[in-house]
Formats: sequence, C-alpha cells, structure tokens
Amino acid sequence: MTRDELLDLFRRSGALLDGHFRLTSGLHSSGYLQCALVLQHPDVAERLGRAIGEKTRGLGPTVVLSPALGGIVIGHEVGRALGVRAIFAERQDGTLQLRRGFALSESDRVLVVEDAVTTGGSTRETMQVAVAAGGRVVGAASIVDRSGGSARFDVPMHSLFEIGLPTYQPDTCPLCAQGLPVVKPGSRVVV
Ligand SMILES: [Zn+2]
Repeated sequence: MTRDELLDLFRRSGALLDGHFRLTSGLHSSGYLQCALVLQHPDVAERLGRAIGEKTRGLGPTVVLSPALGGIVIGHEVGRALGVRAIFAERQDGTLQLRRGFALSESDRVLVVEDAVTTGGSTRETMQVAVAAGGRVVGAASIVDRSGGSARFDVPMHSLFEIGLPTYQPDTCPLCAQGLPVVKPGSRVVV
C-alpha cells in the first residue's frame, strides 16, 4: 500500500481528520488521528497487519507483543500474517506487564507492534517488558509513525507511513488566531 492509499483509507474511515482540534493534552492541532476508527473494519485491519508482516518477516519474529489497548488489534493481525503468537502487555498499578498467563522464553524473538508511535516511550516500555520476561526483541513496528523521526530504537523500526501533526499551545495557536472554532475530537466534525 502506498502512502496516499493509506492516507485515503484513514480519511475515509474518519481516523484522520483535518481541522482545528483540542486534544486530551489541552494542546490544539490541525489534525487528529485515531487508529481505532480504521481498525474497526476487520478486513482493513487484516490488510494493515499483512503490510506490517511483509516489512518485518525478515526479522524472524516468533511472537508479537503489543501494549494494550491500542496495540492489541493490529498486533493480532500482524501475528496472523506472520503465523506467530500475538500477546499483549497491560498496565497494572502504573506498570506495563504481562498478565493472563502470557509468557516468553529465551528462544522467543519478539516483534513489538503498536498502532501509532508518538514519542516512542510506550514502544520502549513494551520492549523492556519483553526483555524482563526473558525474550529477545528483534524489532518494532507500527501503522503510523507520528514522531517526526524522533522515535529511534536500537532495533529496526518499521512503519507503514509517517505523518506530522503539529500541535500548538492554545494561546499561540495560529488556527485560533484565524478565528477558526476549535472542536474536541470525537464530537461531530464537518471537515
Ligand atoms: Zn487553536
């Protein structure tokens, strides 16, 4: 899938919006990305999983590990494409960990899969979970890299596409300066 095809897919499912948004962080942005809206379509999720699988098969992963909740659906589809297990880590008392009997062994080659990488922090934390459980991390992957090139790891990282979504402090927001009304993502938006 080309970048244009992916962007079109995201726009059509409302997963990528152009406008003027107030994010949960309080910052304003000219774009909004919500991967769950594209992943709600199982056939699309499967295609995206296959595309990530093609990019990462060469790393020889034996298991996919994703952080809950955002990484679970796409992690499962990547696992399906690669023919390997797909497990997830979840937060308890503030710490990301393996629960539900999920386990890794020292022969496991772990691919960390997320929906979107923003700062790389949660990818790094998921890698630490894999190592602490005895696995070896061979790579990381996401549908979207919105880090602007700042998310770098000591293993190969593959994303299907990169996108920059600029954020602004409300008092210096150029969209506010133009008098455009700001909306909260999730509310009905006419683009
Ligand atoms: Zn604004």
